[in-house]
Amino acid sequence: MARLELDDVTKVYRESDGDSDAGVVAVDDVSVDIPDGDFLVLVGPSGCGKSTTLRMIAGLETVTDGEIRLGDRTINDVSVQERDIAMVFQSYALYPHKTVRENMSFGLEESTDRSDGEIVETVSEVATLMGIDDLLDRKPGELSGGQQQRVALGRAIVRDPDVFLMDEPLSNLDAKLRAEMRTELQHLQEQLGVTTVYVTHDQTEAMTMGDRIAVLDQGTLQQVGTPLECYHEPNNLFVAGFIGEPSMNFFDGRFEGDAIATDAFEYPLSADLDLPAETGLEDGSGLVFGIRPEDITLRGQATGERCFAAEVTVVEPMGNENIVHLRFDDADGGESFIATTEGIPRVSDDDRIGVEFPEEAIHLFDAETGAAVKNRRLSFTGAAEGTLP
Ligand code: ADP
Repeated sequence: MARLELDDVTKVYRESDGDSDAGVVAVDDVSVDIPDGDFLVLVGPSGCGKSTTLRMIAGLETVTDGEIRLGDRTINDVSVQERDIAMVFQSYALYPHKTVRENMSFGLEESTDRSDGEIVETVSEVATLMGIDDLLDRKPGELSGGQQQRVALGRAIVRDPDVFLMDEPLSNLDAKLRAEMRTELQHLQEQLGVTTVYVTHDQTEAMTMGDRIAVLDQGTLQQVGTPLECYHEPNNLFVAGFIGEPSMNFFDGRFEGDAIATDAFEYPLSADLDLPAETGLEDGSGLVFGIRPEDITLRGQATGERCFAAEVTVVEPMGNENIVHLRFDDADGGESFIATTEGIPRVSDDDRIGVEFPEEAIHLFDAETGAAVKNRRLSFTGAAEGTLP
């Protein structure tokens, strides 16, 4: 077990024509410190550099710049075999002609000096831990996807590595099994206490699994924090929009001193709102106004200074909550947005209602840089019940 540190790590894939200046910057100056035993989820959209980062940690890609440290040694130039890191892939990568037992013991036979007896014992212990002890004599082709994934995880665990690296390991499983395996993997990781880096493009997986999450976009680290920090206190527009489902609603606007003007509404700011002085906001500065769907209060009509008229376009009842699609009038920019409410739906398609955006819940972002200027107040507990009939 060990602490893993990435220090200004950069990866440039060079063009094959040998022009040393050209290339794709896949990972750009990423620094992150993963304490011993921590579970870090690396999340971001496809192409943001997640796999490249993981592959550099594993030693499958060279590091163009920066340093990767495991424990107290720099591992940039240490070979894959000597890194003491076990990787689990989306594709399972099991040997089809070997049994589960052989798949699990193969790596140990090749890379350690453990005796045959020790290997048999370790494989049997881990198989019991993973609930696959009755499958040891089967071949991968005789197993379900979930069972194959357990074998792939088991094979990583028997190696007793310093670090686990997991690249979208659950994405080939159906939704129900994926949810089960998420919880199981978390328990397992806690039990084993092995430092883990887990890559996913799925923000739900990131929110539910990680001690901390690192959000990447276009090779650049956007934020590292606990899932709730990233959710409630996003550093910027990208994190705000990426974390949370349905996503935060955004409206382009302008700062007007005591209000924010958007095409759809004029939002008054109270005098004690306390926008940080260092934001450098001037009258006319571009701002993006953000509000999460669950923070919008639906009212029978638009009354009050932070409540605006909107039309319900579609209501999706999910059972525990309703996803209410709304739209401002064309005259007010016609922008669409989403609110979520709990329980039995109390609005239906084509209703004209009021939507209140409580000031404690709003987020403001600099339109130019995307940086957060103001995040929701953490003590705010959510939208009020509303006054719908
Ligand atoms: P992710 O895992 O987040 O989907 P990747 O790390 O696979 O992203 O890719 C990051 C960027 O690097 C992408 O623009 C991708 O096209 C590019 N890339 C990945 N592998 C290579 C490679 N072997 N050669 C050139 N470019 C690559």
